[in-house]
Amino acid sequence: MTYEPVIGLEIHAQLKTKTKMFCGSLNDPDETHPNVHVCPVCMGHPGTLPVPNKKAIESVVKVGLALSCEIAKRSKFDRKNYFYPDLPKGYQISQYDMPLCERGTLDVLGKKVRITRIHLEEDTGRLVHNKLGSSFVDFNRAGVPLMELVTEPDIRNAEEAVAFAKKLQTILQYLDVSEANLEKGQMRCEVNISMRKPEGEFGTKVEIKNINSFSAVRDAIAYEIKRQSAALAKGEKIVQETRGWDENKKATVSQRLKESAHDYRYFPEPDLSELVLGGEEGAPEETVIDVEKIRASLPELPDQKKARFQKEFSLSEKETEVLASDKYTASFFEHVVSELDAEREIDKALVKLAVNYLNTDLRKLINETGTPISEMLVSAENFAELVGLLHEGKITSSAGKMVLEEMFRTGKDPSNIIEEKGLAQVSDIAELEKTVLEIIAAHPKVVTDYKAGKQNALQFLLGQLMAKTKGKANPETSAEILKKLLS
Ligand SMILES: [Zn+2]
Repeated sequence: MTYEPVIGLEIHAQLKTKTKMFCGSLNDPDETHPNVHVCPVCMGHPGTLPVPNKKAIESVVKVGLALSCEIAKRSKFDRKNYFYPDLPKGYQISQYDMPLCERGTLDVLGKKVRITRIHLEEDTGRLVHNKLGSSFVDFNRAGVPLMELVTEPDIRNAEEAVAFAKKLQTILQYLDVSEANLEKGQMRCEVNISMRKPEGEFGTKVEIKNINSFSAVRDAIAYEIKRQSAALAKGEKIVQETRGWDENKKATVSQRLKESAHDYRYFPEPDLSELVLGGEEGAPEETVIDVEKIRASLPELPDQKKARFQKEFSLSEKETEVLASDKYTASFFEHVVSELDAEREIDKALVKLAVNYLNTDLRKLINETGTPISEMLVSAENFAELVGLLHEGKITSSAGKMVLEEMFRTGKDPSNIIEEKGLAQVSDIAELEKTVLEIIAAHPKVVTDYKAGKQNALQFLLGQLMAKTKGKANPETSAEILKKLLS
């Protein structure tokens, strides 16, 4: 009997705001000193009152609109009660039955994955454990706005799950609502997975937490499919539980039996008013969210950008996949094209040349050094200048690669590097003819061979010319001159 996996995802993302969700403490994910961004509100002191961060609410609505969700007309916050040392109030402000966004979709690998809901809550503090067995709490993260997105169990394998998470990450970055960096914990994935007989009823689901990279999403799903299939094959029952991903053991390990919603004793947060989305006369200003204004402010999203690049620049699906893969690459490319356009008539060949250098040579340097494109020293202006010089034959492609490496290392502009290193391509006919005549004189036997019909004799002479000019001779002009002078 073979079983089919049924997978759903729960993804949390920290929102990029100046201050925390319900107080004025700073939301600074790069702060390394513990407990500096705290105040009585996020520390849960009695008698304090939360004030909602409107930017965070607008960010979630933005994500909802980008994922074709229905945006709630009214929404509210609820208390989720549980005890844990990283939760100073003894409850988390979250959203239970009236989330901001519901019923969206995201196209992934040619399939529509349905999104159940997206809601807003506050993050917890962070526990730090040392080797001596002591634990510490850092409350800088407590109260940071956190978005939670839940999908329907529409995913059937690890590839789809990873593609979904990657695409969501790209969209969050395009929308500028979250850095969504998994390594920094700004985006966290949880996987719900069960096995069923094909098209049969859903099995018992297991939740996997503590997954902090895309490869761990893939590995954890693969592990769990194997584990559950083996158990079912032996006639064992799957226990509904929460398991954690252990990166060292490359295995999921049982953490606790799954709690259900009633364990949390959700109830409406009494200190916060209901949110009114879409405008209602007389509602307090801080609770009114203008959905249409947010809709009008949505930027071009990755799929739209890909389609436009393909149409506007006659690029292939594969080429645009890389270009639109993150917003920094896309904006770098657009900046390069506008620079090229300002200097000359741009055509397909010129754009193609730019795309090739960006997707291969520049990408290689980025990958080798681990420098993100947003932080590299090569400016769009300088990159466009290099592409222009290559296009006009001012330098050979092998010199182009050297110049790009130097630009990447130093941030210098290409014309300076070319001059410093003497890399300008020699197309001056008189100068080339002089060198060719010297080479012909130095290799009489090869010349005789060439005249006797040996074609590789020409290649040898061309090689000599390249060596003598240090690779700077224009290859086409050189071949023409050689043929002319040998005839
Ligand atoms: Zn605070």
